[in-house]
Amino acid sequence: MRMDNQRESSNFEDRGRGRGGGGMGGAAGAGALMGVFRLLGFRGVVIAIIVLGAVYLFNPFGLRESIFGQVAGLGGGAAQQAASGSGTCDASQANAAACTFSRQVLASTEDVWAQQFSQGRLPNYGNTPAAYSEPTLVVFSDSVNTACGSAPSSVGPFYCPGDNQLYIDPTFYTVMEQRLRAPGDFAQAYVIAHEVGHHIQNLIGATQIGVRGETQNQTSVRVELQADCLAGVWGHTAQADLAIDDSDLREALTAAHAIGDDTLQGQGAGSVNPASFTHGTSAQRMRWFRTGFDSGDARQCDTFSVAQNAL
Ligand SMILES: [Zn+2]
Repeated sequence: MRMDNQRESSNFEDRGRGRGGGGMGGAAGAGALMGVFRLLGFRGVVIAIIVLGAVYLFNPFGLRESIFGQVAGLGGGAAQQAASGSGTCDASQANAAACTFSRQVLASTEDVWAQQFSQGRLPNYGNTPAAYSEPTLVVFSDSVNTACGSAPSSVGPFYCPGDNQLYIDPTFYTVMEQRLRAPGDFAQAYVIAHEVGHHIQNLIGATQIGVRGETQNQTSVRVELQADCLAGVWGHTAQADLAIDDSDLREALTAAHAIGDDTLQGQGAGSVNPASFTHGTSAQRMRWFRTGFDSGDARQCDTFSVAQNAL
C-alpha cells in the first residue's frame, strides 16, 4: 500500500503517557473497562496482560448500562492535548511514524464511510443515520481513561461507544509484528479499520442486537466478525487510492489468523474452549474479512442473519 498523498485525519488526540490512568500500575483497575469493543479476545488479552495479573470483562449486552454506569467520576471524555514534549507521538521515531500512519488510515476510513453512508450501503437494523459521523482516534502510552473506564495498553486497541473514540497505544504495532507475527502496514491498517468497524456498528445499531437462544459470547463473535468484514469493505473501497495489492491482503489475513480465538488460546494454556470464544476462530476472522474485501459491500457483512454454525 502507498500513503504518499493520503491526508492525515484531524480527528486525532495525543493523550500522552498514562494520562488519567490513575491506579493502573497493576491490577487495581481490573474490571474498570466495560462495554468496549476490542481487537483481541478474552484469552488473547489475558496472555497479553498476564504480567499485570489483570482481567478485563467483555460485555456487549451491558453496553448502555456500563457506559452510563462508568461515565460519572472518570472524567475520561475531556479531550486534552498532551503537553509539548510529553506526547505519545513524539516519544520515539517509531511512534511518530505509527501516529502519522494511523491518522492517514483513519482519514481514508472517513472518506470511504462517508460515501457508504450517503449511498445507504449498510446492513439495516432500523436506524441507520443518513450521514456518517466521524470517530476520534486517541493514541496513548501505558494507560488511558475513557468514557468506558480506564485501561492499560496491554488490552490492545479498542473502541469505546460511550465517547465514540478509538484507542491505541502505537507500540501495539510492534506487538503485532513480534509477538503475533503479523507484520506489515496493511496489517496495521486492518487494526484501525476493525475499530472503525465497531464505530459503524454503534452508528447503525448493530451493537444492540441480541440473538435469541445465544450466549453472550456467541453474539460477541457475530459483532467481532462483522467488524472484520467492515474492515474488509474499507480495504476494498480504498484499494485504488492506497495501491493496496495482493501482498497487503495477505498481511491482513495473516493478522486476522493470528488473532483468532482458537489460535490465541492454543498459544496460551494449550487447550481450546469454543464456548469461551468472543471474537471468532482464525478461519472465521479471515473469511469475514475477505467477504468484505472481495465484495466491497457492507450489506454482505450481516453476520446477524447467518446461522451460528454457518458463520
Ligand atoms: Zn473488535
